[in-house]
Amino acid sequence: MTDFDFDLFVIGGGSGGVRAARIAAQHGARVGLAEEYRYGGTCVIRGCVPKKLMVYASGFPDAFEDAAGFGWTVGPRSFDWSRLIAAKDAEISRLEAIYHGNLQKTGVQVFGARARLESPHEITLATGAHYSAKHVLIATGGTPFVPEIPGAELGITSNEIFDLETQPRRMIIVGGGYIASEFAGIMNGLGTHVRQLYRGDQILRGFDQDIRDHVADAMRARGVVVEIQRDVVTVEKSGDELEVTLDNGECHRVDQVMFATGRVPNTSGLGLEALGVKLKGNGAIVVDEWSQTSVPSVYAVGDVTDRAALTPVAIREGHAFADTVFGARAVRPDHRLIPTAIFTQPEAGTVGLTEAEARAAGEVEIYRSVFRPMLNTLGGRPERMMMKLIVSKADRKVLGCHIVGHGAGEMAQLVAIPMRMGATKEDFDATMAVHPTAAEELVTMRSPVE
Ligand code: NDP
Repeated sequence: MTDFDFDLFVIGGGSGGVRAARIAAQHGARVGLAEEYRYGGTCVIRGCVPKKLMVYASGFPDAFEDAAGFGWTVGPRSFDWSRLIAAKDAEISRLEAIYHGNLQKTGVQVFGARARLESPHEITLATGAHYSAKHVLIATGGTPFVPEIPGAELGITSNEIFDLETQPRRMIIVGGGYIASEFAGIMNGLGTHVRQLYRGDQILRGFDQDIRDHVADAMRARGVVVEIQRDVVTVEKSGDELEVTLDNGECHRVDQVMFATGRVPNTSGLGLEALGVKLKGNGAIVVDEWSQTSVPSVYAVGDVTDRAALTPVAIREGHAFADTVFGARAVRPDHRLIPTAIFTQPEAGTVGLTEAEARAAGEVEIYRSVFRPMLNTLGGRPERMMMKLIVSKADRKVLGCHIVGHGAGEMAQLVAIPMRMGATKEDFDATMAVHPTAAEELVTMRSPVE
């Protein structure tokens, strides 16, 4: 036995920290966990979960419009922002209580306070309390990054958008990543005039070019003003409005400016530098394949390590850490072939290599299908779906799958399984189609494109 107060002390009660704490406790460890804000982390409180609820809310206008083609007459309709926010808040509080309850059920001692490390085994809470622990896990996540431009402080980030008291009528969203593109769709669907500004050539850098082009074109067709090679120079207050000057000299008056310009790891004020925990240039904690830092008793999982800033990845990393250190079962989190969805409108789902990455690695065949899904025929919507498979010429394995359209995220989850198992194009072809679905295109694409 040791003289430590805890076998494990976790700093951060988000997806990764909570999973690690619960699994470690189930393996018999005495676990403490400190969270300075709310349990559930970015994903539950101001990320994936409230975002998806808002995506659903913003999709109803499509359904109302399409209904006519199916014989329905929909009466007058209106949208109440504060009712949506209140309903969302109630759901988030319910989920937070579940997170908190689950920690307590497994015997984890929770502290609602900020924590910092004093030594490799000592933690001090903002309350002044001190604890010792054999192992410490940092799972403090990330925080929005806002560029230093005059007036940036007048803007909001994804931390604030979920709690705005009133819906902006006109809005500028800066950035071209997941958050900017998803919120452009949400706010547009809810009736806000949205101008999305991206400094590069096309939004969603890092994704397959066909996904980027298809989503950007469809967003524009739905009314989002997507401007590329465009940035904000200054933001000024003008009465109740914001006056936003762009790098082409244009000036736009809007109600809100949202910076979705990336996120940075939450490592400041934790005492890590003094301990000699190695950090990357952006503040992320350097870890090995076991999530162990340069100080052997200190581990880190999730966004704070800047491996893949996705909730399921943090959960896997936290679980693997707990199994390895407390469960006598060495597990490395596997970061290959991570499927992901971008909840833009239309939605995108993807797993594996982009066409450019695959071509750089060897010879490939590209299968692509762009079609009008059945829902849109009677609905009268011109929007098309896109499905794309990237196949290795050498061993016929499906290296990448990229989907845009209704249900793309759900499909990406399922197609990731055969891809991890090394399925070939012939395995896809031999699989019977489910008819009529959109997903059947994945097993019926016969000829590669030129
Ligand atoms: P991203 O890193 O995806 O995108 C940041 C965007 O901001 C990029 O377009 C980037 O441009 C731009 N940018 C960065 N710095 C500046 C600057 N100084 N001036 C102007 N533009 C700038 O970050 P997000 O904030 O969108 O999301 C953070 C992470 O959260 C994601 O990477 C993802 O891992 C996760 N996430 C996942 C979701 C999902 O799974 N559906 C949803 C939301 C978030 P450039 O491309 O030129 O660098």
